Formats: sequence, structure tokens, C-alpha cells
Amino acid sequence: MFIKKLANPFQKALIDKSLCVGCTHPLSRAYRLGAISPSKDLVQCKCKRRYIFDRELSTYRRATFEEEILFLEAKKK
Ligand SMILES: [Zn+2]
Repeated sequence: MFIKKLANPFQKALIDKSLCVGCTHPLSRAYRLGAISPSKDLVQCKCKRRYIFDRELSTYRRATFEEEILFLEAKKK
């Protein structure tokens, strides 16, 4: 997906409003996959995009590939 590599201001505006950049679904209703750290959750939108929710700041951002791996590794244990 070439779109992923662009720093898109429109996508940032959506995410600042806690909306999915792909389908504009509210991230507050995204499915919580689990915690990746004491203050951060990995959530997945219905369109399969994954985000990190920071519980201290109540903000969302796109999950990095490394964070998804981190989560999958932690889940195996
Ligand atoms: Zn979505």
C-alpha cells in the first residue's frame, strides 16, 4: 500500500479527531486487541487498520509494524 508511506495531513486531521483514517469509523468503537505497555493499548478498527491508544493522553495514532510484532510476540507467551 503506497498510501501508508505518505505523511498525509488529511489522515492526521482524522486521527486527531479519533477517527479511522481508512473508513472514518470512530476509534472509540474499535476493537481492543490488548495492551502493549501499561499505558498503551493496541486496537483494531473494523477495516483491520490498527492503532495505538494512549490511555494517559487519550489519543490515537497508527500502530507501527514493530508495535504489532511486539504485541504478537507478547501474546505468544
Ligand atoms: Zn477503519
